[in-house]
Amino acid sequence: MNQNLLFYSANILIVDDLPTNLRLLDSVLTQQGYNVFKAINGKLALRASTTVDIDLILLDILMPELNGYEVCRRLKAEAKTAKIPVIFLSALNEGFDRLKAFEVGGIDYINKPLVVDELLIKVQTQLSLRAAGKEIMLLDRRIEELTKKREEGIESVKNNLEIVRHDLLTGLPNRVLFMEAVESALQRSRIETDYRFAVLFLDCDRFKVINNSLGYLLGDELLNSMARRLQDNLSEQDMVARLGDDEFAILLTDAQDIASAAEVADKILIALKEPFNLQGHQVFISASIGISLGGKNYQQTEHILRDAATAMGRAKVLGKSRYQTFDITLHQEALRFLQIESELRQAIKENQFRVYYQPIVCLNTGKIDGVEALLRWQHPTRGFVAPAEFIPIAEETGLIAPIGNWVLQEACHQLRQWQAAGMVKESFTISVNFSPQQFSQQNLIERIDQILMQAQLNPECLKLEITESAIVEKSQTTVSILQQLRSRNIQLSIDDFGIGYSSLSYLHSLPVNALKVDKFFVQNLNEAPINTGIVPAIIRLAKTMGMYAIAEGIETIEQLERLRMLDCDCGQGYLFSQPLPPEKVIELIAREPQW
Ligand code: C2E
Ligand code: MG
Ligand code: MG
Repeated sequence: MNQNLLFYSANILIVDDLPTNLRLLDSVLTQQGYNVFKAINGKLALRASTTVDIDLILLDILMPELNGYEVCRRLKAEAKTAKIPVIFLSALNEGFDRLKAFEVGGIDYINKPLVVDELLIKVQTQLSLRAAGKEIMLLDRRIEELTKKREEGIESVKNNLEIVRHDLLTGLPNRVLFMEAVESALQRSRIETDYRFAVLFLDCDRFKVINNSLGYLLGDELLNSMARRLQDNLSEQDMVARLGDDEFAILLTDAQDIASAAEVADKILIALKEPFNLQGHQVFISASIGISLGGKNYQQTEHILRDAATAMGRAKVLGKSRYQTFDITLHQEALRFLQIESELRQAIKENQFRVYYQPIVCLNTGKIDGVEALLRWQHPTRGFVAPAEFIPIAEETGLIAPIGNWVLQEACHQLRQWQAAGMVKESFTISVNFSPQQFSQQNLIERIDQILMQAQLNPECLKLEITESAIVEKSQTTVSILQQLRSRNIQLSIDDFGIGYSSLSYLHSLPVNALKVDKFFVQNLNEAPINTGIVPAIIRLAKTMGMYAIAEGIETIEQLERLRMLDCDCGQGYLFSQPLPPEKVIELIAREPQW
């Protein structure tokens, strides 16, 4: 702020009952460029100081009615005028009481008779102090405003954070807020040693299907209704949050054990089974829930949610629309999964896979007329790892495609070698397992053509084994691929038949050559009277559709006898031989055994 400007425009009020004094001061100060206001008594002074914005008052002491001290006291008592600096005009002969002057709020005094220089210096000093004061006041006000704004800002940031901590669609808490709540529950468990709480991880079973068929708007409405229904089935102190898509998490703050958490999970599953009414559509859903019990055994909140999610995944595998509680073996299983996945990648690079062959016997002749190629993993430290242990993981990670292609290539080459060496008949076949994943490979047919060509193998010698699930899941493309394979005279079998859910009418339209009866049924054959039960039914079914039947897992003579009576075409099992490495199996074949 420009001080000079302020001086020259400063408003000075002179209060004196002697007009000559007034005139003198007026002329001196006006010359300096100040705006001068004059009051001839105390009352007029008080009025003037409230109507005009006065910067400085020069105040005489001895005046009729209100003397200078009294005027000053009143000025200081009024908020509006309290801050105006007052300089007393004192004459020693008038008995000036300096102490009193300061007591009532005066800031300085000027002796009469006036010394102009002294007057001007004191006026200037006070005005500049006043200016500084005003500036400070302005600064104060500015700071006050800024602080207020900042506080408002903080408030609005806080409000925004609130949004960031809630799911926009459902208004439920989101993951951030949920994890905070889990964290405080965890902290409580560290203080109260017996305190337990539960975290539920809920995932809709067929939300994508619903979303795709109803459209996103109704999908959103469904999520909203679900959110409400979840809330309605929880008590006040519990929290339900939406983690994303169709995933919800629930914190039960007072679940002392798995049983009480399971009770809530059950209640929720039942509540969700009631149809949802969405704009005239009745929609049915189900959900899978994983439960983990939190307590001081956990170090990190994320682990509690992770374990609940793992348990939820287990619930899905076990058939969906159910809950599953977490136990440590599930975590170990998840870890093992990750471990095996990375080891599988290594295994591909380092050629740790082998193909074993299990003879397939024609039950009419009792002779081996083919083999099934079975993958073996020779792990550098763990020895042989069973396919049941790693194939599901290879399937889930997509690694089955390169691995399966390798098996196919290896098996085709092997058979071609045996043929070339005259060790097997022309009609000898090789069966290779083909995973559902392999069907979704790009250029699958070209790839198979190429493998057969490189091996120079007659496609009629190759049988591909596919599972029921591969056929059920990918109807249209699968049928077309199967047809292309059949047109090359590659034979097709349905593996593990009987454990899936193939619809018979559908099966009828498939270009398939054989059904493989799952070993589970073969091994339970002894219990049922002949001609009743699954095995005879499957064999009859195969015949009706012009296919042949292969029984897996034959371990006993009795089983073999029964299967022969049922007119089963082929058989495979430990009774004949275990899966063997190529040099062993060809030795066996060379001996031409007969059963
Ligand atoms: P699968 O295709 O049904 O193969 C038959 C399984 O039954 C083999 O298990 C075989 O060793 C076993 N087995 C044979 N005879 C008997 C018996 O008398 N008793 C019993 N208890 N078991 C018998 P393996 O070799 O452990 O393979 C398991 C599964 O892994 C296979 O079932 C197949 O689904 C899958 N698999 C194996 N190799 C491959 C492959 O190269 N690619 C794909 N996609 N899957 C494969
Ligand atoms: Mg098989
Ligand atoms: Mg099988």
